[in-house]
Amino acid sequence: MEFSTGAGDKVPKEGTRVAPLDILVLGSGPAGLAAALYAARADRAPLVLSGQELGGQASLTNTIENYPGFPEGVGGAELAALFQKQAERFGARIEMDSATGADLRSWPFRIKTYSAEYLTRALIIATGATPRKLAVPGEQELVGRGVSYCATCDGWFFKGKEVVVVGGGDSALEEGLFLTRYATRVTIVHRRKELRAGKILLERAKQNPKVSFLYDNVVDSIHGDAAVDEVLLRDLRTGQRTMLKTQGVFIFIGHDPNSDIFRGQLEMDPRGYLTVDSHMRTSVPGVFAAGEIADPVFRQVVTSSGAGVVAAIAAEHWLAEHEGETVLARAA
Ligand code: NAP
Repeated sequence: MEFSTGAGDKVPKEGTRVAPLDILVLGSGPAGLAAALYAARADRAPLVLSGQELGGQASLTNTIENYPGFPEGVGGAELAALFQKQAERFGARIEMDSATGADLRSWPFRIKTYSAEYLTRALIIATGATPRKLAVPGEQELVGRGVSYCATCDGWFFKGKEVVVVGGGDSALEEGLFLTRYATRVTIVHRRKELRAGKILLERAKQNPKVSFLYDNVVDSIHGDAAVDEVLLRDLRTGQRTMLKTQGVFIFIGHDPNSDIFRGQLEMDPRGYLTVDSHMRTSVPGVFAAGEIADPVFRQVVTSSGAGVVAAIAAEHWLAEHEGETVLARAA
């Protein structure tokens, strides 16, 4: 396949030639924007498709206290804006769009979005993950009317109200503590006796008079007409069911990777996390992945941005090796 070197990178009407991008980055969280910064500094003029949330999940975090270089912490949205500004300064372009399909069997790779189709020689996937749902009756119906997956986004609406937080990890405690700014009471409902969260958050939560813990319990259903007004809890030890009055249900029970469009084309684990090596190479040469899409374990802004940098440098090396090629010789 041969392409012109003319301007423009969206695939136009049938039969028109178009210049493929060198590097297309999917996702604008810490991994995507750090990759874009390095790809831009390598003079590859990367295009970033931001996905639904510019800055990714980190931008929804109220304060990030563990990103090195910010001893007093930094707002998630503020940090995302700084990442973006730095990448753009060196020539990265960011478009508000999301990939809806991918063809990684031909090369240059073909990525479909809501509004266009792109060709790219190298692809960096940094599409992150989506908050997991409880999948109980009432949850879906009451999203935005008391059910939420983001305290920073929705906390304000719960001023003077009582809320339930589901989960026992760092997210549940961190977001639960944030909610104490608004809510009069935050009940953390966890399915086990031991919390998964780290010590610092645990101590903070235990010392906060607005926070209480309900262990060995799960939410079986969420109730309310116009808005949430109670949840049905089940004690896993006794099987006993109780109704708890609450105006909000915040759910922080982990995440699922956004890898559906790559199913059958890239190797992934049973949960859908993409398989990468230490150079962030996926199972298809020229396709790299970084951040939470390939990392179910660490999930930190600093580790994701580090992985994005590795992916960009590896992509640059890979492109240099294949410079001038119009057909990619596939590894057997
Ligand atoms: P997580 O660590 O996977 O915790 C998820 C929690 O939800 C667990 O307590 C789990 O219970 C519970 N859970 C899962 N499925 C459930 C279900 N169907 N019903 C009820 N409960 C359910 O997820 P996370 O809190 O989002 O954190 C993910 C990663 O990000 C971790 O590595 C964490 O350290 C990191 N993180 C760090 C910070 C920070 O450093 N400040 C902040 C946020 C997140 P079990 O414990 O019984 O499995």
